[in-house]
Amino acid sequence: MKKLELHWQILIGMVAGVLFGFAMTYPDWGATFVQDWINPLGTIFVKLLKLIAIPLILASLIKGISDLKDISQFRNIGVRTIMIYISTTVVAITIGLLLVNVLQPGEGISQDTIAQLTETYAGDEQVTSKLEEASKQKESGPLQFLEDMVPDNAFNALGDNSLMLQVIFFTIFMGISMLLIGEEAAKPLKNVFDSLNDVVLKMVDLIMLTAPVAVFALLANVVVTSGDPDLLLALLKYAGVVLLGLLLMIVFYSVVVATFTRYNPLTFLSKITPAQLLAFSTSSSAATLPVTMERVEEHLGVDKDISSFVLPVGATINMDGTSLYQGVAAVFISQALGFDLTFGSQLTIVLTALLASIGSAAVPGAGMVMLVIVLEAIGFPADKLAIGLALIFAVDRPLDMCRTVVNVTGDATVSMMVAKSLGRTLHPKVKNWDDNLDEV
Ligand code: ASP
Repeated sequence: MKKLELHWQILIGMVAGVLFGFAMTYPDWGATFVQDWINPLGTIFVKLLKLIAIPLILASLIKGISDLKDISQFRNIGVRTIMIYISTTVVAITIGLLLVNVLQPGEGISQDTIAQLTETYAGDEQVTSKLEEASKQKESGPLQFLEDMVPDNAFNALGDNSLMLQVIFFTIFMGISMLLIGEEAAKPLKNVFDSLNDVVLKMVDLIMLTAPVAVFALLANVVVTSGDPDLLLALLKYAGVVLLGLLLMIVFYSVVVATFTRYNPLTFLSKITPAQLLAFSTSSSAATLPVTMERVEEHLGVDKDISSFVLPVGATINMDGTSLYQGVAAVFISQALGFDLTFGSQLTIVLTALLASIGSAAVPGAGMVMLVIVLEAIGFPADKLAIGLALIFAVDRPLDMCRTVVNVTGDATVSMMVAKSLGRTLHPKVKNWDDNLDEV
């Protein structure tokens, strides 16, 4: 019998996890059982993915840079990547703002619902901790992110997943130096990293064998820990606007892929489906990164020297789904609580959500922390911030799962665009963008 393709296996795991989670909400002991006995399988899987993220970035970025002919090529990739990332994020925020202004999800929400949501969530520990995190972020100066990018100890950077930009900085520095000392002198080190790269990609394959079981566990846990269904229903219109925006972003990427790279968008989407499903299940683009890299390099045929830079940078600074959500959420909260927004405030949202997307960590729920900063930038009253977050907290996890899918798809799209724009798309086996790599 032919083995089911990986994305089908993962999908079946996800559906089974959701059904199991619902079934477990009935017995009193169900939620605890899932948290104690099922969820660890998902947690271990996420840890394994994170475990290989740094070695993978290190190996593939060094391999990528040292394969380049000269430094100017690298500058070309860098400038294009950043410009395209900024553009797609501005498109995302604009779509979000247009939808939320036209559909006005905050206008219809009743005072009773607001009171109920406030009572349930405004004092919630998780909401409070997001406010605290945001105030810590805010204390830093405007150039703090540049300062943070430069490590003072390479091994500390390599030892901390939240310091991904520092790892990228160190790796690029090292890769460029390898280019400068010349091919002959750099060869032994390059061979080590080439081999490490192959080994880590094999580790991704092995970890992915457990993905169907892991997503089962992750989704069952999401269901048993989700909030009151009535409150979820009350926020349906707001959630609908965010989801519609996210869907439009996927359509936007498909159009971009079709017109810009002339690659069949459906093939594109089907090849990155496993990464999208993992993004959905883990809510973390950082945890998904190894799989995104594997899909983009091995299945879409993007050259490693491009994907190995574009994807890790994207996972850290490009979050189209998150910034779209921040735009919608900021306006929704303002509408619901009667806070007037001028055209200028909406422009401020574009700017701050763009910066927030760069500053958001690629982990579950990070988008909400930066939302606080967006709200503060438009002058939203500080004493109402907790109420604002309480209004959207109940649906945040499902929306986080969906926006992470868009974040990851955006990174993959941009890596295709950068590759195409530099005329270097070709996997050894791929003749042109219209070829299907699985079939060549
Ligand atoms: N979970 C998102 C990510 O990892 C960030 C967020 O929107 O909270 O991409």
